[in-house]
Amino acid sequence: MNIAVPMHHPSDADEATPPSFDQFPLSPPMRAALRAAEYRVPTPIQAATIAPALAGRDVIGAAQTGTGKTAAFVVPLVERLRGDASRGAAATALILAPTRELAEQIFGWTRRLGCGLRSALVVGGVAYGPQTAALRARPSIIVATPGRLVDHLDRRTLGLHDVRIFVLDEADRMLDMGFKPQLDRIMGGLPPRRQTLLFSATMPAGLGALARMHLHDPVRVAVGQQALPPSRAAQDVYLVDSGAKTPLLLSMIAASGGNVLVFARTKHRTDRVARSLCAAGHAAQRLHSNRSQSQRREALEGFRRGRYRILVATDIAARGIDVAGIGRVINYDLPQTVEDYVHRVGRTARAEAAGHASSFAAPEERAQLHAIERHIGRTLPRQTHAAGGGDARSSAAPRPSRQTPAGDTRRARREWEMDTTNGAKGARKRRPRTFGNAGRSRRRRQA
Ligand code: AMP
Repeated sequence: MNIAVPMHHPSDADEATPPSFDQFPLSPPMRAALRAAEYRVPTPIQAATIAPALAGRDVIGAAQTGTGKTAAFVVPLVERLRGDASRGAAATALILAPTRELAEQIFGWTRRLGCGLRSALVVGGVAYGPQTAALRARPSIIVATPGRLVDHLDRRTLGLHDVRIFVLDEADRMLDMGFKPQLDRIMGGLPPRRQTLLFSATMPAGLGALARMHLHDPVRVAVGQQALPPSRAAQDVYLVDSGAKTPLLLSMIAASGGNVLVFARTKHRTDRVARSLCAAGHAAQRLHSNRSQSQRREALEGFRRGRYRILVATDIAARGIDVAGIGRVINYDLPQTVEDYVHRVGRTARAEAAGHASSFAAPEERAQLHAIERHIGRTLPRQTHAAGGGDARSSAAPRPSRQTPAGDTRRARREWEMDTTNGAKGARKRRPRTFGNAGRSRRRRQA
């Protein structure tokens, strides 16, 4: 069974049959929890997922980032666990997420929408003791990253025999990060009679095989166009020599207000960019996998709460992280894969907000820029930025001019002019890749 639901947002509710949480048989405590969260209308992925998941069906869900998929699985799993608990059955839900930050975020929602069910967070980078104690208290919901979960299985501080509902979130990302052995181990240890809800932005071949092996007659829920950035996010590109990226970043940040999330290619570059921003007097923090878990948490919380206006991060922050009101994403370096581009842009324009994503592309990043343009099916507007600050202005074909950031070589500028005029070859002709045929991202755990 396939349910294809056109992408729209809660505010665009269909006038004939406005979607409503009343359409689902939810308990009074869950209705109260949804009201407290100010969720009035289900998002399309929630509208399509909650009913089959409540009915106990396996679900494969494909939805753009920021579409509300956390509640799409938390609401039905909480309702089903409460039903089991009222019948005296021992039942647990296990939710796996690829990064600690995403797991923590989901854990927060299991508490807000959990209607009193106990949940435990099992992630790496923190001491085992409190986690073991939390697991001993027999939580109904366990939210985990794969590596630490397997460590607990090895230590026999956790068993999987009571798991009745298994959720795999950002499954494609998990495979990208090299978690296949851990997934095989975990899924092999789950009881065969269980419900599985699998969410993924793309469906690479390896994931299709895994779904065929582990899911039973799944309902497929696809919301809107897959693996494309949210249409509410304006996107543009600055063609710059790599030596001019930091001055350009500093002048853009000085010229604009609001929260900015900056993505750099490596941990080292992330540190360097954050240092330059701090040296220029900006409240900036950095997030990457060489930092301790408490540093990562402090960086994200500080950014969320406004202590830091700017967060500089590797792609560890590209997926799933939900920080309200990120006005701008800046790709200081272009990502290695188009999927990461989509996810980075998805950090702005969350829920119903508008947003703006700007990318810096140096001559050596031309191949990545063209791949992104082919993927999104259009040429990104080229921007130039007046030296020493001032607002960017759009330019369909910018002249070689004083506005070109300092440090551009003449050759690079000529190449960029050609590029600016032509855009990516085939960018307008090719169709964007969609769920089901998106290519496999390169494996990397460097984030
Ligand atoms: P998610 O994709 O689960 O990370 O959700 C993206 C954002 O949408 C988060 O800020 C959620 O709190 C918000 N959200 C999810 N569902 C709803 C809803 N039904 N109504 C309003 N906001 C929602």
